[in-house]
Amino acid sequence: MPETTEHIVIVGAGAAGLMAARELARAGRKVTVLEARERCGGRILPLPVSEFGYPAAGGAEFVHGEAPVTRGLLREAGLSLHEIAGEQWSFDGTALLREERDDPHEAKLQAVLKDLKDDLSVAEFLRRHFAGDDYAPMRQSIERMVEGYDAADPERASTLALREEWMDGGHAPQARIDGGYGALIDFLAADCRKSGVTIHLGAVVSAIEEDGDTAAVRCGGGDVHACDRVILTVPLPLLREMALPASAREKLAAAADDIGFGNVIKILLRFARPWWRERHEDLAAMTFLLSDRTIPVWWTQYPSGQAVLTGWFGGPRTAELESLGPQGLIAAGLDSLAAIFKLPREDVARELVAATATNWAHDPFARGAYSWATPRTRAAQAVLARADGLVLFSGEALYRGRDMGTVEAALASGQETAEMILRG
Ligand SMILES: Cc1cc2nc3c(=O)[nH]c(=O)nc-3n(C[C@H](O)[C@H](O)[C@H](O)COP(=O)(O)OP(=O)(O)OC[C@H]3O[C@@H](n4cnc5c(N)ncnc54)[C@H](O)[C@@H]3O)c2cc1C
Repeated sequence: MPETTEHIVIVGAGAAGLMAARELARAGRKVTVLEARERCGGRILPLPVSEFGYPAAGGAEFVHGEAPVTRGLLREAGLSLHEIAGEQWSFDGTALLREERDDPHEAKLQAVLKDLKDDLSVAEFLRRHFAGDDYAPMRQSIERMVEGYDAADPERASTLALREEWMDGGHAPQARIDGGYGALIDFLAADCRKSGVTIHLGAVVSAIEEDGDTAAVRCGGGDVHACDRVILTVPLPLLREMALPASAREKLAAAADDIGFGNVIKILLRFARPWWRERHEDLAAMTFLLSDRTIPVWWTQYPSGQAVLTGWFGGPRTAELESLGPQGLIAAGLDSLAAIFKLPREDVARELVAATATNWAHDPFARGAYSWATPRTRAAQAVLARADGLVLFSGEALYRGRDMGTVEAALASGQETAEMILRG
C-alpha cells in the first residue's frame, strides 16, 4: 500500500490537539502542531514543584467520573491515580459545619429529573418544579453547583445535560493523577514527537484559507503552513478571532452561540503550616469547603498533607472581579479565608509562602475556563462536527458525552476527530 502523504495541521497543543496528533501520526499522516503558547497543555497548567511543594495545577486538577480515555492513557504512561475521599465542609456566615448530603427533597428531585422529557434551563426547571419557600435551600445548592462547578449560567444551562451529574448523587468519584495532568501532557507530547509530529511553540494562528483541495494556515509572525486538512482545537472564544474559510465561518455563526463557555478564577495559596488543621482538629480530613465569601470554594490536597489551600470561583459572577489582577485576587482569597476561619487577616497573610492566581477570562489563549451545555448545544455540536470543508473543529466543547468541559472531553474529542479523518 502506498504511504500517504496527507499533511494535517493541528492548531493547539492542549489535550485535544496532542491526542489527535498522536493518533494521526501513528497512522502514518504527516502532522504539524501549531501552538500559540511557549508550552504544551493549554488549560492544563502545571505549576513549579519548587514553589508549591508538589506538582500543583493552575488549570485542570481532577479526573472526573469514569474518564475511559484518560485512564487508558494513564495506564500507557505508567501514571497512577488516587481517589479523593475526605469530608466536605461549609461556612454559612457564622460557623463551619460538616456538610451532609441529606436534602429532604432529594427523592422528589430525582423523580422529577427521571421523568423529564423536554430540555429546559436549570433556572426554569427550578421555577417550574421547585418554586416554594421550602425548596429554597435546595434551589440555592443546585444554582451554586451549576455556577461554581460547571461555570455555567443557570438561566441558560441545560437541565438534561446536567441531569446525569445530579442523578449520580453528585460528582463522585473524583481522583487526582500522581504527578498531575502535567505528567500526562509530557507523556503525550513525547509520544507525539516520537511518532514524528512536529510541534511549533509560540505560533499564533491568525487565519486559515482554503484553495481547492489545499489549505494555508497563517501565523502572526508571517509563517504559512500549507496542508491538506486543519484541525482547530482552540477554545471557543478564540475561534471568533480567527479569519476562517466561508464554510467554517458559516458553521460557527450557526452554532457557536448555542454552546456556553464559562469562566473560573483559581487561586493557590501555600502556607508555612497547615494552620486550619492545627486550629480545628476536626478539619483533618477536609477536602472541600463551601462558603458565602468572595472566593467561595476552597479545597485541600487531602489525603496528602500539603499546607496548600486552593480557592475557586466559577460562573458568570466572576465578572464582578474583572478588574482584579493576580495580586488583587490573592488578597481577596486571604480576606475570604480570614473571614471563614475568624482569624485576623495579618495572621493568615503572615503564613503565606507562595501564591498564584489566574482569572482565566484574562488568559489571551483561553479567554475563559471551559464550555457548558445549553438546551441547544447538542444540535450545535452536530453542526460544528460536520466533516465538510478542510477545517475541522475539535476540543472539549465538541464532546458529546457526559462531563463536557473536562480533559476527558478534550482527549475523547481529539481522538474522535482523528478517527474521522482516518476513516476518510
Ligand atoms: C481553572 C480550570 C480548572 C479546570 N479543572 C478541570 C479539572 O479539574 N478536571 C478536568 O477534567 N478539566 C478541568 N478543566 C478543563 C480542562 O482543562 C479543559 O477542558 C481541557 O484542558 C481543554 O483541552 P483542549 O485541548 O480542548 O483546549 P486547550 O487546553 O485550551 O488547548 C487549546 C490550545 O490552543 C492554543 N491556542 C489558542 N489560540 C491559539 C492560536 N490563535 N494559535 C495557536 N494556538 C492557539 C492554546 O494556547 C491551547 O494550548 C479546568 C479548566 C480550567 C481553566
